[in-house]
Amino acid sequence: MFCRKLLNKNAIKCSAKNQIRKLKKHDYAMPEEKTTAEEILIQVFKTNEVKTQKDWKKVRQEILNNQFNKHVITPVNIDSMIIGFCTKPEKYQLASSYIKFLQKEKIKPNLATNGKYLKLLYEKNTEKCLKADENEILGIYEELRKGYPVLDSFTIENLILGLSVTKEWKKCLELFEEIKITAIANNSVYSAFISSAFLNNEEDLAWQFLNELIENNRTPKSIIFTSYLATAKKLKSKEKIHAKLEKMFEFLKNNDLRLEKTAIEKLEELSTSLKVSTMTTKVDFKGTCKNCRQNLDTFELTNEEFQELKDVLFKNVILGRDIFVKTSPQEMSNFQNFILQQEKFDVVLDGLNIAFSVGTKHPPHVFSTLLANVVKYFVDLNKRVLVLGRVHMHRWPQQTWGYVKSNSTIFLTQNISEDDPYLLYCALNSGKNTKIVTRDLMRGHKFLLKSPKYKTLFNRWLTQRQYQLLRIDQRGQPIFKHPLPISPVAQKNGTHWHLPYDEVENNKNEYLNSWCCLQLMK
Ligand SMILES: [Zn+2]
Repeated sequence: MFCRKLLNKNAIKCSAKNQIRKLKKHDYAMPEEKTTAEEILIQVFKTNEVKTQKDWKKVRQEILNNQFNKHVITPVNIDSMIIGFCTKPEKYQLASSYIKFLQKEKIKPNLATNGKYLKLLYEKNTEKCLKADENEILGIYEELRKGYPVLDSFTIENLILGLSVTKEWKKCLELFEEIKITAIANNSVYSAFISSAFLNNEEDLAWQFLNELIENNRTPKSIIFTSYLATAKKLKSKEKIHAKLEKMFEFLKNNDLRLEKTAIEKLEELSTSLKVSTMTTKVDFKGTCKNCRQNLDTFELTNEEFQELKDVLFKNVILGRDIFVKTSPQEMSNFQNFILQQEKFDVVLDGLNIAFSVGTKHPPHVFSTLLANVVKYFVDLNKRVLVLGRVHMHRWPQQTWGYVKSNSTIFLTQNISEDDPYLLYCALNSGKNTKIVTRDLMRGHKFLLKSPKYKTLFNRWLTQRQYQLLRIDQRGQPIFKHPLPISPVAQKNGTHWHLPYDEVENNKNEYLNSWCCLQLMK
């Protein structure tokens, strides 16, 4: 059996090698199958220089006739494809030249083309809007307004982006009202408008939209804070500047937001002229800032907040989603009874998640030994342990599974469709300080809490309670990733503000211990 497996493996390897050889032989034929619109455009632009009207005509035709073009690019979408292809700064000119070509040829750009072009003009003019581009954006706006009594949300979003960098930026307000009918504007659209409101000194309006963005579960982009800081720089009095900064930091703190590197760089620019001292730093394993030596805090939930979170989680995540969807009402009522009678536990273990941390293809004794080791670790610390799992665990070897059974409380379900929400609820129900052991990051459940307030509370609770099993060492001791000694949230500690930030854009899920330690000096 073992030999046969080995043989089969080798056979697979062999045939894979042959495949690779074959593919190499037919190298030239391969792109035909997989060619994307982008590849066609790259190829055509590589072999053509576009300067005149005639050049564009030729290129357009060549793209449509390209041998690899299997109806991916059609006369209907070719214009938006070309504009979409020009979204990098070095190609902006190419896009403008193409739009001029279309005008001369009397080809009317469709909504998709206009949308992409508006977005491109926005990106090109974010720092400072060129007069010619401003006129072009306003021209497109007028034309679309005249041509379409109702606009789709994609076009409206791109119109907001375009208008936000022009003197007519307040026209966006009307567009926000229109978009609300069918959709919620995306992060970039909100951020562009808010940034514009800050830069145009309409601070109340900016804050109103910034709060609306949070309420709508959107994430503010860095441009909001860089624009805000740019306006702070213009203020004359030190007190006003400091108050303005504190207002922003409080907002970051209350909404668990991390800045991005670009905003930190803006803060560093402020440092000498505005009596602000900034330093990028790390926090050590005890939670002390390596720059100012202050200890950072953990944000604990108040009893009321904790109760609210528990109620909302039960309503939205457990009842609302019917996690017992595959099971009988009996199982739901067992669960409810269990909750009613539930004792208080120090630790709640996600049984299967722990057992499968070594992978799922092992004999049962591997799983049960692993789980027994984790249970023993907490029992040795005099902790009361609850293990959640599935009924089939009863078939695990009695020596180790027996240890688990006699040293912890067990709640097993037949075939619950999802364990995590129910694990979360048991942990919350057990008390504010109960630890939870699972490698699952529970992002999906946080999403279901909907309200930003509860998401923040959930984050704060879970980051302080969750232990993730990394491995079991040679002595059978589990090695955990422990909760952070601090809350990775903007906070004021004594005289210093500590602002966590992301080194890389859009890296919101991972804490990388990058902080800006900042002091507003007297
Ligand atoms: Zn510090």
